Amino acid sequence: MQFPKALLIDGKLRAEATGGRIQLIEPATEQPMCEVPAAGKPEVDEALEAASRAFATTRWARVPAPQRSGVLLKVATLIREHAEHLAQLEARNAGKPIGDARWEINAGARCFEYYAGAVSALLGETIPTSGEGFDYTLRVPVGVVAAIVPWNFPFLMACWKVAPALVTGNSVVLKPASLTPLTALELGRLALEAGVPAGILQVLAGPGSEIGDYLVAHPRTRKIAFTGETSTGARIMKLAADDLKRVSLELGGKSPNIIFADADIDAAAAAAPMSVFANTGQDCCARSRVLVEAPAYKRFVEGFVAATRALVVGDPLDEKSQIGPMISKGQRERVEAYIDEARNSGGRILIGGDRPRAKGWYLAPTIIDGLDSHARACQEEIFGPVACVIPFRDEAEAIRLANDTVYGLAGSLWTRDLERGLRVARAVETGVLSVNTNSSVYQEAPFGGFKRSGFGRDLGLDAMRLYTETKNVFIRVRYT
Ligand code: NAP
Repeated sequence: MQFPKALLIDGKLRAEATGGRIQLIEPATEQPMCEVPAAGKPEVDEALEAASRAFATTRWARVPAPQRSGVLLKVATLIREHAEHLAQLEARNAGKPIGDARWEINAGARCFEYYAGAVSALLGETIPTSGEGFDYTLRVPVGVVAAIVPWNFPFLMACWKVAPALVTGNSVVLKPASLTPLTALELGRLALEAGVPAGILQVLAGPGSEIGDYLVAHPRTRKIAFTGETSTGARIMKLAADDLKRVSLELGGKSPNIIFADADIDAAAAAAPMSVFANTGQDCCARSRVLVEAPAYKRFVEGFVAATRALVVGDPLDEKSQIGPMISKGQRERVEAYIDEARNSGGRILIGGDRPRAKGWYLAPTIIDGLDSHARACQEEIFGPVACVIPFRDEAEAIRLANDTVYGLAGSLWTRDLERGLRVARAVETGVLSVNTNSSVYQEAPFGGFKRSGFGRDLGLDAMRLYTETKNVFIRVRYT
């Protein structure tokens, strides 16, 4: 298999960099897979200089948006042409089941296609002012964007940032997570082939602890688009404060899945496993706090456990696998510590809690009940295949429990009562919520968090606003 080997800076692929090399270990085998160059501060300087120069001097930021759209469509076409290679890279690098990896690559291509068209809907206004004249607004690009993304959906998170930033006329420095840089590096190569001008997109692998702060605080960076942990997001916000850089943060979650007794309990139970265990639970939207109305508790939990037992945990490259390994040894140990603590504080492990395969960082999907809703496992983002089930008495208690967390990213509720559905959907403090399904992320609709899950919205038309400023222009006209 051909692994990407180069960073992208100023339109050139770089196989060497001053930060040394990052060795990648395959989560399914625990064996070394390949190495990529690691950017150091000199490459960050070069990348930001190139981005700044390209923003100021190329036609990219000034041509009508539809001219950029053509390039985005070409990127999408190349992603589709290389989809199987990208999916294999993602599956091996992130330990993702190949079916999920194919879905992710396809969604990345779709993201470029969507923004190629959606930019035509980014409209200004004409405003009747009290002054005599003509007033209109424009959306203008912010400038140099640092896009920093995590390891759980490496390709898709990169596309969610890069596509709307490029189509609105910015230049971008993309920094993938050190654990999963491969598909982002490949995206850089494909973008170059598609005709994204030199300097408009750079891709730098490199440790966040060494180049992350530098990239964020650098005077050339005007905006930071970040997806990752809440604590990293808070640090970025502080670093950005002095220069008042624009910041959008898509952070952690601890999302509720609320099941009312009048719901289709069998459907809710059948859907619950993949709402939390998909991507081995390493999903910011994971519905890991499962709240169930008391009369339906027993039936729901039996169905949830049975459906979880039927999940196929296995090699990411096996077409039948639904759940792969965790991303790293350290991440699995972290999750196991939560399970041990839950066990020691009176939690019952209804299924899972063990390592199902000898090799690879696998961890069985785990369901726990009997915990107080303030237990750490019920409050903190575990970011692994662990769900806590908690009973509730009535609607008011369901809302209280759902909101009793510092996070506010996603959630679901299941009921046949339409009015209750509308009432609870409004009352739950999350940026996205789904009713009678766990599916709440769509390319066309805004996605992002309340509270410590961040601010700013990826996806939909909203994302283009993150990468543009509103400019108001008033032209004096003597009408009389
Ligand atoms: P993370 O540790 O915060 O890392 C995210 C990115 O930030 C990586 O590229 C990382 O680089 C970089 N980084 C680390 N320290 C930095 C610093 N001081 N300055 C600038 N960049 C820095 O998060 P993660 O563990 O990769 O991802 C898991 C988290 O992402 C979870 O909390 C999950 O909920 C969240 N997430 C949120 C969403 C959403 O849309 N809300 C979507 C997906 C994931 P290195 O890899 O080199 O450290």
